[in-house]
Amino acid sequence: MKNKTLKYNDQLIEYQVQHRPSVTRRIHLELNKDGSLRIVAPRRMSRRTIHRTLQQRVSRVAHFLADARPRMRERPVHRYVSGEEHFFLGQKYPLEFIQEPGRRGSISLIDGQIRVIVPNSRPEAVGKRLSRWYRHQALLYFSTRLEVIGAAASWTKDHAPPLRVRKMKRTWGSCSARGVITLNTHLVKTPAACIDYVIAHELCHLQELNHGKDFYALQEQLFPGWRKAKNHLKTRAHIYLV
Ligand SMILES: [Zn+2]
Repeated sequence: MKNKTLKYNDQLIEYQVQHRPSVTRRIHLELNKDGSLRIVAPRRMSRRTIHRTLQQRVSRVAHFLADARPRMRERPVHRYVSGEEHFFLGQKYPLEFIQEPGRRGSISLIDGQIRVIVPNSRPEAVGKRLSRWYRHQALLYFSTRLEVIGAAASWTKDHAPPLRVRKMKRTWGSCSARGVITLNTHLVKTPAACIDYVIAHELCHLQELNHGKDFYALQEQLFPGWRKAKNHLKTRAHIYLV
C-alpha cells in the first residue's frame, strides 16, 4: 500500500488508507502497531476526497497523533511472567507463581501479590486463568456495590437490577431497555470510586434514558464525585482496557 503525506507547518505526516465496509460515512483515524497513522474510510470514498478532507483538518490529525502515540507507549503488554504487575481496584500487584504439578490451580490476592498456583506456568494458560479470576472478582465486587448504591437510589425500589459482566473494548457499562446493567470486566482493575461512578451512572439510566439535565441532577445526587472518576477513566482507559 502506498503511503500519502500531509503537510502541517513544517511537519510531514504520512498515512495509509484502509477501506472498511463497516465505516459508512466519515473517516476515522487510527494508529498502527508501529505508531504510524491509518485512515479508515468508507468503501466508496475516493483517495482524492480523503486527502483533501485530511489536509483541511490537518491540525486535528496532528493533535490526534500527539495524544494517541504516548498513550500507545503506556499501554501495557502482558507476558504473564513472574513479577509482572497487574491492576486490581486501582492498585498494581505483581504476579507470583507457585508451581505445583498435579494441582488444579488457583489465584488469590495475598500479601500484596497476585498468587498464581498453577500446574504449569505457560503464559497463555496463566492469561486465561487470570482473566477468569478477574471475571469472578468483578461479579462479586460489582454485585455488592450495585446493592449498596442501588439502595440509595429511590427509583430502584429496593431491588438491585440484574447484572451482567463481560469484557468490552470501549464501554465501561451500559443499561438495556429492559433494565439489565452490563459492566465491563476490566472495570474491576480501576479504583473503587470509578466502579461506583459507573454503577451510579447506569442506575440513573433506569430512571432517565438520555444524558439530559435531569440525568445529571440525578447522577450528582447519587454520586457527587462523578466528575473526577469520569476523568480518571477517560485518561487512563488505555491502561485498564487490556
Ligand atoms: Zn450514560
